[in-house]
Amino acid sequence: NDIADRIFRGVETVQDGVHEALFEPVIRLGVTGLSRAGKTVFITSLVANLLDRGRMPQFGPGTAITAAYLQPQPDDTVPRFDYESHLSALSGPEPHWPESTRAVSELRLSFKIRPAGLLGGLTGLRTVHLDIVDYPGEWLLDLGLMEKSYAEWSAEALEAAGARSEGASFLEALAAVDATEKHAEPVAKTLSQSFTAYLQSARANGYSDCTPGRFLLPGELDGSPVLTFAPLPAGEAPRGSLHREFERRFEAYKREVVKPFFRDHFSRIDRQIVLVDALGAIHAGPKAVEDLRRTMADILAAFRPGRVGRIMSLLGQHKVEKILFAATKADHIHHSQHPRLTAIMEAMLREARDRADFAGASTMAMSLAALRATVEETMEHEGQSLDVVRGTTETGKQAAFYPGELPEDPSHILSPARKGADKWLDGSYEVMKFRPAKLTLRPGEGPPHIRLDRAAEFLIGDKL
Ligand code: GDP
Repeated sequence: NDIADRIFRGVETVQDGVHEALFEPVIRLGVTGLSRAGKTVFITSLVANLLDRGRMPQFGPGTAITAAYLQPQPDDTVPRFDYESHLSALSGPEPHWPESTRAVSELRLSFKIRPAGLLGGLTGLRTVHLDIVDYPGEWLLDLGLMEKSYAEWSAEALEAAGARSEGASFLEALAAVDATEKHAEPVAKTLSQSFTAYLQSARANGYSDCTPGRFLLPGELDGSPVLTFAPLPAGEAPRGSLHREFERRFEAYKREVVKPFFRDHFSRIDRQIVLVDALGAIHAGPKAVEDLRRTMADILAAFRPGRVGRIMSLLGQHKVEKILFAATKADHIHHSQHPRLTAIMEAMLREARDRADFAGASTMAMSLAALRATVEETMEHEGQSLDVVRGTTETGKQAAFYPGELPEDPSHILSPARKGADKWLDGSYEVMKFRPAKLTLRPGEGPPHIRLDRAAEFLIGDKL
């Protein structure tokens, strides 16, 4: 009886699965971007605005959706995206920014949709599931490591450290170490910590390319041997030496950390949004912009059809059908500047497609603010009228800012050497750290945003 029961339940489960696959399509939407790009805020506001669609006029399927609701996600072992806590941080009486993405998480949002046309009334409602997968962009960039040996990666990482002022103290620590000596964990740990500290300050100063990604966002691997290594200059090293051990750990990192992430999460994505703090990079200066351009190409290269499958010898990788590159935090600048920000993103995307030799998915670039924290004003200043944004600063005071203008021609930012100027967005951008504004929402309204509806339309509008 027990066996019969189990078989019966097994068949039921399979039937549920088949039923879902046939009649309830699932869209897996990846959300990525480097740390602080705005992933957590984006997902929280997107979900809130898909649940209550009052502020989503450009999202086509909005009117056909009769219900939207959160459901248990299909993957039992992936942490759930903590939507409720993040939303209450943003929309409580003392609004504050939620905790940022540190690892992979997932959330399922389901829609009931009235089919279009005459048959609409007859065929009943359709169900479509949207599985949102949040993951650090730093982890995505690790794909490039899979094709490199320890020696190749070391050479590149040491060159980068030499070219960046943040790398000085790591290189000093490295000079004091003899890597042919017998491996000793305290030496390994000190060197690796110094390397990690360099990567972190390089990231904080606007550099995008800082692999290995888990050195910045270790997740549950913090302190483990697989994250305790650093690049070393090439050279012969005997068995049992620090050099050999670091090489072994680098290979373990690829095998035990990078590969499972791509196999379990990345390879199943259908649609992808890549969030980019382009304003932050532009403010940080030409080196950060140059780094961002290279990183965008590296990110796009990870989506080259079949690439992950080839590198990882994985079968059955989905084809990612659409990729959106979005500059976030557009509420830091007046809307008169938005077309310029979008033009910069478009130029960078075009270039990234060329650099990555990318074909396949359809791509788009835009600028948005997932949660609008400012209002716009035009002020008179020394006989000129200035387009400013006003918001609540971190000290709790209201203030208006004019961060300067972006160039009309993107090449002024993308090729500063040829065009002269190399500083855009002046000093006041530095202090433009806004708190989320207090919200009073009418029934059916999600939080205020800029072009979140357009982003949703591009990413999933055609699938609903
Ligand atoms: P993550 O690391 O990619 O998850 O980034 P978060 O979503 O945590 O965002 C990082 C920070 O960027 C937030 O704490 C905010 O300060 C800021 N931010 C993100 N989105 C917006 C936005 O739409 N408007 C404004 N003004 N700030 C934003």
